[in-house]
Amino acid sequence: MVKITEALNIIYNTVTKKSTHIIPIEESIGSISAKSYKASFDLPRFDNSAMDGYAVKIADAGKEVTVKEITYAGDNPEEIFEQGEVVKIMTGAPTSNSCEAIVPIEDVEITDIGIILPSNIKKDAMIRWKGEDIKSGETFLFADEKITAYSLALLASQGITHIEIYRKPKVVIFSTGEELKAHYEKIEKHQLYNSNAPMFYARAKELGCDVSYLSSSGDTIEELKSAVSNAMDADLILTSGGVSVGDKDFTIQAFMELGMEILFSKVNIKPGKPTTFGKLGSCFVINLPGNPLAGMVNFEMFVKPTILKLSGTRAFYHPLITTKMRDDHKFRAGKYTVILGEWNGDSFAPISNQKPGMVSPIERADGMILTMPSVNSLSKDQIVKMIPIKVDLQNDKEEDFFIH
Ligand code: AMP
Ligand code: MG
Repeated sequence: MVKITEALNIIYNTVTKKSTHIIPIEESIGSISAKSYKASFDLPRFDNSAMDGYAVKIADAGKEVTVKEITYAGDNPEEIFEQGEVVKIMTGAPTSNSCEAIVPIEDVEITDIGIILPSNIKKDAMIRWKGEDIKSGETFLFADEKITAYSLALLASQGITHIEIYRKPKVVIFSTGEELKAHYEKIEKHQLYNSNAPMFYARAKELGCDVSYLSSSGDTIEELKSAVSNAMDADLILTSGGVSVGDKDFTIQAFMELGMEILFSKVNIKPGKPTTFGKLGSCFVINLPGNPLAGMVNFEMFVKPTILKLSGTRAFYHPLITTKMRDDHKFRAGKYTVILGEWNGDSFAPISNQKPGMVSPIERADGMILTMPSVNSLSKDQIVKMIPIKVDLQNDKEEDFFIH
């Protein structure tokens, strides 16, 4: 049996990222960039106006001047002008060396012969400088980071059409248990719907994997082995059930007979002690307990970092949100304990009834906190660190967002 931190270190140290391929940037959102990208030119590419206005000389402040030309965005070349003149210029149009500042349209007074400029004009006002956003040669996107919609703005601004990313991890989901039926099948009184497989399928997908189901297997070694042997080209096989001490808990034995090397077996965690991590050829294997809540907790604790490590991201460690307890909470000490709870952006409230075999708390949990064996109570307002599970920060009521 290993500690939670030991188990995680084994994952961090053994799981490696996959090969790379090149795809159009529009298809890369959510993928992990395999390369750093450097700017090949300055952004802006040339000095230009930040406003619709007039390119002016400072010495003309407060004076009436004539309007020589109009320059629009997209125009080339830049307009040269003398003192006593201005050039009308639109946002994004190039400024020339003659331009000492831009005065916005709304700050001038139109006259019969031209315009009157305001009396106080600051040198360089409203000019956007070549390279002030991104300098040529500067790295603007880093390797091993997630590509977002906003990364696409940067990539496109440099004329980049394709990007090198890591291949998505390939995950196979596999459940064991004679009692299980797929959710679309008819069920008998003594049977149970397989809720773990759809849950893990969807969660692995959310984390960016190519996921497939292996049909669930009965509890004999032969059935288990033949099911698994169809999945060995995956990067990760995820099983649930049959890892405990029951008479038909053969999952680990079946994997070992196929050649799985155990990297850790059993974790000092409540719930989910039987969780096992191994390697079968080049494929990682995580055997989770069948109890849905225990499986879910151990998915979040161990499978998620495994998937993230496979995906190539450097951000594979658990994120932490510092929050406070909404109320007092007492529980049994003696174990490394995971407590699922609701989080409203302000405080953490443990879900009152959470047992390893339950399904309903899984859906309600926004995050989890982990306590050391010595801890048996948490008090209202005590600061705690929460590992988020699903944190949807959208608001269901309108609030004042200003800082006063
Ligand atoms: P096991 O880990 O196989 O001993 O299963 C522990 C408990 O979880 C038993 O009550 C099983 O019926 C239940 N269980 C196992 N696999 C699943 C599953 N895929 N979906 C829902 N419940 C399950
Ligand atoms: Mg079972």
